[in-house]
Amino acid sequence: MSLPGRKSAFLHLILLCLLLVWARAGWAQPVQINSKSEGYAGLLSQVLEEQGTPLDLPQAMALFRQGRGQPGKSPILNFGIDSPPVWLQLELDNPADQPVAVMVVSGTTWIDHLQLSLVQADKLLGQWQMGDTLPGAKQLIPGIGFATRLLIPPGRSELYLRAASPDPLVLPIEVLDVDVFDARQHEYRFVYGLIYGFLLSMIVYNSMLYIGLRDRSYLHYSLYLALFGLLNMTYTGHGFAWFWPDNPSFQNHCILLMMVMFGCSGLAFTSSFLSLERYAPKSLRLLQALCILALASQAFSLLFNAQAAETLAAFVFALVASLGMLLLGILALKHRHVAGHYYLAAMFFGMLGTLITTLTVWGLLPFTGWNYGAIKIGIILQAILLALGLSFKVRQQQKSRLQAERMAERDPLTGLHNRRGFNEQAAAIWSTAVRNQRPLSLIMLDLDHFKTINDLHGHATGDKALKLTADMLAQNCRGGDVLGRWGGEEFLLLLPETGISEAQALAERLRMEIQTLELAESHTKLALSASFGVIERSSQGQLEQLINQADRLLYVAKHSGRNRVCRED
Ligand code: GH3
Ligand code: MG
Ligand code: MG
Repeated sequence: MSLPGRKSAFLHLILLCLLLVWARAGWAQPVQINSKSEGYAGLLSQVLEEQGTPLDLPQAMALFRQGRGQPGKSPILNFGIDSPPVWLQLELDNPADQPVAVMVVSGTTWIDHLQLSLVQADKLLGQWQMGDTLPGAKQLIPGIGFATRLLIPPGRSELYLRAASPDPLVLPIEVLDVDVFDARQHEYRFVYGLIYGFLLSMIVYNSMLYIGLRDRSYLHYSLYLALFGLLNMTYTGHGFAWFWPDNPSFQNHCILLMMVMFGCSGLAFTSSFLSLERYAPKSLRLLQALCILALASQAFSLLFNAQAAETLAAFVFALVASLGMLLLGILALKHRHVAGHYYLAAMFFGMLGTLITTLTVWGLLPFTGWNYGAIKIGIILQAILLALGLSFKVRQQQKSRLQAERMAERDPLTGLHNRRGFNEQAAAIWSTAVRNQRPLSLIMLDLDHFKTINDLHGHATGDKALKLTADMLAQNCRGGDVLGRWGGEEFLLLLPETGISEAQALAERLRMEIQTLELAESHTKLALSASFGVIERSSQGQLEQLINQADRLLYVAKHSGRNRVCRED
């Protein structure tokens, strides 16, 4: 780019900045109607709040003419919960000589009453009534809000909007080109399809896991996701537009009711995931009381038709519930709960999203797409982390069950198989040997005068001697051999593919080794010895018979002077 070219680009940039500053300064500029119409028009509108008595259109127009309107303070106007009805005035300028069709988005899906009037030269060109208190869900575009198709005449005209709702009064006014609006509607359909599809698959998957595993966490988790889906459907208007367009009174209350139920299901999931019943029964009762209180307050406000109180109670409960879930996550981590870190991270993202969206709708944060949609992103992240957490929990449970099973087959002192473990391992080897007619031998050994060892050196030293013997035996075993502690100071060795001579040689070697054992730390000479019974399988039908015969041979070894190997001839 040449220097003059760069210079002119620089000038353009300065001009653009000036233009932006000028536009932001709040000059009541008319909205230009052309093929690129888009962007929130809050800053371009004049705002008037009704003081007590409702105004009709001529009265409101007169007040605006007298300069009683205030310039809008943000692109998306938010008047918070329980605001008085508001009027907005917006000037339009259509420079073309033909009427131009536009879509005017006037309010979020939960606004009770919306009245839109198009005026040119003091003449009313058209008036539209909308809101979720009217049956038919007219002009409701799910996910976007109430939108009306208008034909804007050439030249200057004015839009007047009256909005009334005790719910958060959010007015994201936009005058959109029809094609831009259509493209946005397609995009929203795609995004919501994706979100509902994700939620549905998670709900089905977790319900299956509940049916299979019978862990209540999965059921509560499915419920929690289902209630999030329902809550989302109610406040985005999908429910009203698709399922209950003729029940506006239901629509009017179900958002708040769903908010409370969503909070309750979150707390129910928390209590089962963190097993509060077992670890924190007091917290559980507190949560239950909180849920009952929130549901009762909804019923109470509904009964007395106190919609503002109903709204406030629901919003406060949503915040308290998500804060409570986060707090319980921190406690879970402190108490080293299984999968506590997954739970805490999940709750953090879920709560952050809920908090941002709640504060945005409440009017305490700017109403932007990201702020408004934060809960969806938070819940998706939460769902992924909780799914990981649940599977981690199952893996841990499986691990401890396996460990318990292993423990039941092991002798805690020596780490060798106990009787049960030995029998289990030996059974398979026995039947293989019988089936294939293969040699199989058994060695049974018993330490000599072990009582004396205990008496001389103490029981603890006796234990060490047993452990030492077990380690030595294990070192002398081959891979396929089965070694077990049969009784107090009695051991069994099952040797597959081993004939009697080989087994006897091994027994001799073991006998020699035992005599050399000493306690390393104290160099205490233990003077250990053992007697052995060795036998090879011949016609025995059962392993038990072979063991009894080995025991008999061991008895013979003991009675012939101990410290010797006695084999069957
Ligand atoms: P023998 O040569 O006839 O086998 O004599 P013994 O003293 O070894 O036999 P006896 O069956 O009379 O005594 C076994 C002793 O082993 C008694 C018991 O206190 C001891 N014993 C059994 N289990 C353990 C153990 O786990 N630790 C210790 N330290 N001693 C044990
Ligand atoms: Mg003994
Ligand atoms: Mg004994």
